[in-house]
Amino acid sequence: MSRTAALSTASAGAPLTATTIERRDLRDDDITIDIAYAGICHSDIHQVREEWGSAIFPMVPGHEIAGIVSSVGDGVTRYQVGDRVGVGCMVDSCGECEFCKDGQEQFCVRGAVMTYNGKGYDGEETMGGYSQQVVVSERFAVRIPDALELDVAAPLLCAGITTFNPLKRWGAGPGTKVAVVGLGGLGHLGVKFAAALGAEVTVLSQSTAKQADSTRFGAVDHRATKDEATFEDLRGQFDLILNTVSANLPFDDYLALLKPNGAMVNVGAPSEPSSFQAFSLIGGSKVLAGSNIGGIPQTQEMLDFAAEHGIAAEIETISADQVNEAYDRVVASDVRYRFVIDTATIGA
Ligand SMILES: [Zn+2]
Ligand SMILES: [Zn+2]
Repeated sequence: MSRTAALSTASAGAPLTATTIERRDLRDDDITIDIAYAGICHSDIHQVREEWGSAIFPMVPGHEIAGIVSSVGDGVTRYQVGDRVGVGCMVDSCGECEFCKDGQEQFCVRGAVMTYNGKGYDGEETMGGYSQQVVVSERFAVRIPDALELDVAAPLLCAGITTFNPLKRWGAGPGTKVAVVGLGGLGHLGVKFAAALGAEVTVLSQSTAKQADSTRFGAVDHRATKDEATFEDLRGQFDLILNTVSANLPFDDYLALLKPNGAMVNVGAPSEPSSFQAFSLIGGSKVLAGSNIGGIPQTQEMLDFAAEHGIAAEIETISADQVNEAYDRVVASDVRYRFVIDTATIGA
């Protein structure tokens, strides 16, 4: 066992405070990562506040991890000390089932082990990336290309793959029109990826306050959803709508923006049930879908694509003592567009 500094919360909704935690001894296929940066994902806040059902405390959140390999187990083949790597939402899976074999570890039949607020197959509770070191199987690390700085790469490990996966699956590319609903941590990366894939991108945001940013990220249009004319003007326009908003939307209004055969894919999760008219789908043979992060091979593909196309998260770097305040700002949508913790400041 080794000890490492971390930000931990003792019980649901309690503030995060600096402490030290244990990391396991290296197994054959394990690497130790000296974490440089950890992104703050909105789902960290939901879990720390126990808003998604029963959670495990004490909790060290963080599943947007970027750092440097500092030691390797005897059987490690993919990484060497000094390599730049990332870890996202998962740290283990069975490796044997049809989904693991297909590189979709998030759907592992045995259940993928989440990076924090989870239990490993050894029964040990997992602790996440708001910490200075993590020990993880090399199978769940991905390589961060040299062209990506570690701080702006960190949010790609959750927010990046969460948006890249559905854009690829539903065919965003040249000749397609994509709407991204919500311009936050997820949405701003969705716009960048969709534009880089060759799609014509429109941002649907509550107001026009972020219009200049939409343009900078590659969108050709930005419309305010509080303006009713938006839903008249854009009727039947889109092949794909990527919804990154966690609030409940009037789905019938949004489905009307799709072309026939179009798809609306949700990666935001409202806490209340949603409703829509079946005819909103039937009339144009439309699809209402969801999408859950992405597997390890696609996470690597996403990082390589980001490096090749100059895509990085827009971040505000904070020190460990600003994390609790940052949580309140995330909930208030007061961040452009992702907080990243400089883990060197933990316990400093
Ligand atoms: Zn996340
Ligand atoms: Zn599996």
